Amino acid sequence: MIKTEKLACHECDLLLHIPEHTSACHSLVCPRCQHKISSGHSNALDSVIALSISALIVLGIAISLPFISFSAQGQAHSISLMHTSIELYSQGFTSLAVIALVLIVFFPFLYIFCLLMITLPIKLGLITKAPVTLGKFIGLLTPWLMADVFLIGVLIALIKLIPMADISIGGAFWAYLMFVPLFSYVVSIVDPYRLWNWIDHDSKCAY
Ligand SMILES: [Zn+2]
Repeated sequence: MIKTEKLACHECDLLLHIPEHTSACHSLVCPRCQHKISSGHSNALDSVIALSISALIVLGIAISLPFISFSAQGQAHSISLMHTSIELYSQGFTSLAVIALVLIVFFPFLYIFCLLMITLPIKLGLITKAPVTLGKFIGLLTPWLMADVFLIGVLIALIKLIPMADISIGGAFWAYLMFVPLFSYVVSIVDPYRLWNWIDHDSKCAY
């Protein structure tokens, strides 16, 4: 007999009896509103740890190397991700500088860091369930993860800039280009149902 547990649908509050484990290539979907509750994964914990560490490494490279260099009318500029916010701040756009830095670098870093704080101790057998606070914090961060939006904006800006200046792509650009799909895949694996399975069964109602 398949072991089930009770869960209220996040969208329509329908009380569901769902299996404790979902096999890979299968998804749990609410029968009333079709909201996807979770996707099956053969080894979500290991995948999240490996991909999160990889994402942290490429994010570190993206922060430390020049993002883009361009020259026009005899003037050459090289700009890094951190420099983007510094430039905005120096031009008086303080709030925009803070928002850019937070959404592009700080929130994705914090998300991965908290995720590793949950998954690594479980994997190492130090704890069986992570603290509820971390789960709630990740839930607050998730709507503000906009690394993919930034990358799309950069690609559009590049298309417009190429005819006007001599553009050279820096190592940080390629690193960030690798970071975004890695990070997006991690976020797609960590749905609220799976996240709260790693935290505390009694606190599932909190998401
Ligand atoms: Zn529903």
